[in-house]
Amino acid sequence: MRIDKYLSNMGFGSRKDVKVLLKSKAVEVNGEIVRDAKQHVDEVADLVTVAGEEVEYAEFIYLMMNKPPGVISATEDKYDETVIDLLGDGERHFEPFPVGRLDKDTEGLLLLTNDGKLAHELLSPKKHVAKTYYARIDGRVTEEDGEAFRKGVILDDGYQTKEAFLKIIQSGEESEIELTITEGKFHQVKRMFESVGKTVVYLKRLSMGSLQLDPDLELGEYRYLTEDELTGLK
Ligand code: URA
Repeated sequence: MRIDKYLSNMGFGSRKDVKVLLKSKAVEVNGEIVRDAKQHVDEVADLVTVAGEEVEYAEFIYLMMNKPPGVISATEDKYDETVIDLLGDGERHFEPFPVGRLDKDTEGLLLLTNDGKLAHELLSPKKHVAKTYYARIDGRVTEEDGEAFRKGVILDDGYQTKEAFLKIIQSGEESEIELTITEGKFHQVKRMFESVGKTVVYLKRLSMGSLQLDPDLELGEYRYLTEDELTGLK
């Protein structure tokens, strides 16, 4: 991985900040001053110091991705591109996996980590982590739908959903909504709308717990979580 990326990942600020740090001759790799932001470092084998202090490379990686449509939220797939294929070598090296699944055609917030404990906690049904989705719906979404979702609807397999919150942004022949659910059944949002006779035509996840999709991330882009974002999730 490039030294500027490495130090930025380790909390030494943006790549621009790191450039300033490199210029100040504070950074050494295996005892040699490094000034070139493009210099490659091996996160495991190389000894990196900043102002004489050893930088310990973190064991865990936490990324937020704006998942594009057409990509599978799994670590590997026989036929399709996966979200892992969208990562750079520096990130793949940590062997991250997606926390929960989004359908192939669903976009938006996806957390990727190799921290199994955090993933388990976020996915545990006992924790009721809220997930908010933006959706466009074929059909007129009504306050009655909102009331039904609040009480719980019966899905096609007989499962009764838990309390969910619907915000109608615009109701018409095609409606725009936000739906917050605290569970993660297979195709849950699509099946909840099916249960009230409507079809989801576009779906994007906006948030998971306190973590909000960064609006600056283009589809397929990702970035490291900030300290505050990570603390908020734990
Ligand atoms: N609900 C769905 O129907 N699909 C998703 O991808 C996520 C939630």
